[in-house]
Amino acid sequence: MSDYDVIVIGAGNGGLTAACSLAQKGVKTLLLERHNVPGGCATSFRRGRFEFEVALHQLSGLGTTDKPGPLYHLLSKLGVVDNLEWVTMENLYRLLVPGKLDITLRADRESAIATLQENFPAEKENIQAFFDLVYKFSFELLSTYRDAEPTPDNYPTYFKYALQTTQQILDEYFTDPLLKQTIAVYWGYMGLPPSRLTFADMAMLLFVYLELKPGHIKGGSQALSTAILDRYLECGGHVRFNCGVKKILVEDNNITGVVTEGEETIKAPYVVSNASTLSVYTELIDPEHVPEEQLKMLGGSTIGPSSFTLFIGLDCEPGVVGITETTNFIGGIPDMDKVFATFRQLDYDDDYVLLSCYNISDPDASPPGTSQIAIVDLKYAEPWLELPPDQYYDKKYEIADKLLDRVESLFPGFKDHIEEIEVATPLTHMRYLHTPGGAIYGFDQFAKDSNLFVSPRSPIKGLYFAGAWAGSGGFQPTLSSGAAAARQIMKNFREQTEVGR
Ligand SMILES: Cc1cc2nc3c(=O)[nH]c(=O)nc-3n(C[C@H](O)[C@H](O)[C@H](O)COP(=O)(O)OP(=O)(O)OC[C@H]3O[C@@H](n4cnc5c(N)ncnc54)[C@H](O)[C@@H]3O)c2cc1C
Repeated sequence: MSDYDVIVIGAGNGGLTAACSLAQKGVKTLLLERHNVPGGCATSFRRGRFEFEVALHQLSGLGTTDKPGPLYHLLSKLGVVDNLEWVTMENLYRLLVPGKLDITLRADRESAIATLQENFPAEKENIQAFFDLVYKFSFELLSTYRDAEPTPDNYPTYFKYALQTTQQILDEYFTDPLLKQTIAVYWGYMGLPPSRLTFADMAMLLFVYLELKPGHIKGGSQALSTAILDRYLECGGHVRFNCGVKKILVEDNNITGVVTEGEETIKAPYVVSNASTLSVYTELIDPEHVPEEQLKMLGGSTIGPSSFTLFIGLDCEPGVVGITETTNFIGGIPDMDKVFATFRQLDYDDDYVLLSCYNISDPDASPPGTSQIAIVDLKYAEPWLELPPDQYYDKKYEIADKLLDRVESLFPGFKDHIEEIEVATPLTHMRYLHTPGGAIYGFDQFAKDSNLFVSPRSPIKGLYFAGAWAGSGGFQPTLSSGAAAARQIMKNFREQTEVGR
């Protein structure tokens, strides 16, 4: 006799959406989370009078009131959309390449093209042609979702470009490396440079942000996580915090339940794991139950980057130190492969960093007269894991100082206005997120590990995955993945009922 129909392990974006979608359908669901708050990456923490956003910089897919996007529809179905206040960003980003370029692009196709053409007049025609391709490709890609048998005759642009790399297309259209860097600067949101990132990923990222505008949430991503949890509880779902799962039980290739870190056995025929596939197959399930092909698949995947992150509260409004945009990329060198190689170094003088100032789009992001800033410098965990423990703190603060000096050179007075600061290394992200290597997007986002090719369903009957490790990282993909896992379980329930008739 089972205690629950489904147990969901982990209350990150994927786990919360899966649990809420199932509870809404009347499925008896238990959500188990190791941490004491919901959200995983999608959370916040307090220092002094600031509540710092951990992860969300630019939400994709939400859209605007007159043009709602797929994420809006998903959250609407979950019943949380009206409980949250949304913030729309009018600009995509400002890119600062010291001594070379300072450009701000609006989240609007015509305006972004015009600004790029003004700054790079020699490539005017190519800029227009490139964005025409991005749009044509994206429309075809979206149409394939509604087509049971998409063919190259019907979707020639999609089939021609989908698996080419972003770099191939940038090289086909442009000559100026600075222009390529400007157009592809969002590659950091996927963690792979254009030479390794599919054009499909980059095209959709540009298309979605240009068409639906980047967004944010009043109260940050914690407000979203809390809203989904509240809705889940309202639908009759059960949750336990401070309750890690240490074992997933399997008998004859069927899920039978879990064992918690408190040694309690809870029975259920279905488990959705928001914990990584790596932890599930190498730690949570006894080796004799792990299908050989899953281990082979894992062997072909590599753990993605984490981040060196600074969370900063300024005692002044952003304008006092010259910050005028929410999203600022600071890029030293245009060679994006070289930049990617620096992800494996502890630090580098010209690191490519993202500086977000939430108050520009949402004045309530911190107390009146202050600013909330996050600086993200993508890094793999390895160099930090290799660092002798007695050097950890010195190195962490040395790198933080170096980054602050860089920011100071672009925004004079910044350092003098710091009221609160917290520094997180990949090891900090490992500790709080419990992801392998502190990875923030799951595995390196190669096409083979994306939602295009990865199923949320395991060969072990009753086991499903949701979240960054079961496809793509980032907010929109992980929230969608939870809903997808829930849909598959509901389909399975229906099939079982039909067989039972
Ligand atoms: C600094 C930073 C910046 C980012 N910037 C952006 C951005 O601008 N835009 C964007 O879209 N994305 C961004 N991301 C990435 C995005 O936040 C993540 O990809 C996404 O939130 C991951 O969601 P998830 O569903 O995979 O779950 P996770 O957030 O990984 O949560 C998984 C949960 O499972 C729990 N868990 C794990 N194992 C167990 C166990 N055995 N038992 C019980 N519980 C367990 C964990 O405690 C955790 O709460 C950023 C992330 C970080 C950290």
